[in-house]
Amino acid sequence: MEKVKVSDREFTISLPEAQIMKRVSEVAAQINQDLKGERPLFLAVLNGSFIFAADLLRGIDLDCEITFVRLASYEGTASTGEVKQLLGLKENIEGRTVIIVEDIIDSGLTMQELLKLLQKKNPKDIRIAALLVKPGNLKVNLDIPYCCFKIPNDFIVGYGLDYNGEGRNLRSIYTVVPQD
Ligand code: 5GP
Ligand code: MG
Repeated sequence: MEKVKVSDREFTISLPEAQIMKRVSEVAAQINQDLKGERPLFLAVLNGSFIFAADLLRGIDLDCEITFVRLASYEGTASTGEVKQLLGLKENIEGRTVIIVEDIIDSGLTMQELLKLLQKKNPKDIRIAALLVKPGNLKVNLDIPYCCFKIPNDFIVGYGLDYNGEGRNLRSIYTVVPQD
């Protein structure tokens, strides 16, 4: 079993590069088919989605645009608790078909917040493209039409995703080895 060390932890291979590439092209083909005649705006959520976004976009044969956003947390009032703020969106998305490009959906809370923030801007349609989904951890109901892989709840790294800021450059996806 291929093993790597990232920061202070060991990880074993979970999704090899070739399998990721194949699946990302399939999902791109699905988007091409579903959105024929549209001019979608891909909205990639930094940092984790940068590699997935690059591969996905090269599989798209529609006229399209891509933009990169970041979600920042800040403290709201005591009653609202933590609120997310959307940074970097300069495009007007009113009346447009938006495809959110996300690395991983875990509890789904981040995605739910992002959807709320985007809905206020009156897009025509918002669809989610996620490299990975952990269905066992989902706390909210989300429609994810373009999901590449469903995975168990274990922590993963690679292909854009980090552990302690490292490991984003790994070409495959690796799962953490439990510590005893
Ligand atoms: P959610 O709001 O869906 O619980 O959290 C999503 C965010 O948690 C992702 O964008 C990612 O930053 C982080 N995350 C969740 N699971 C993992 C994981 O297994 N590995 C890494 N690197 N990040 C994760
Ligand atoms: Mg993310």
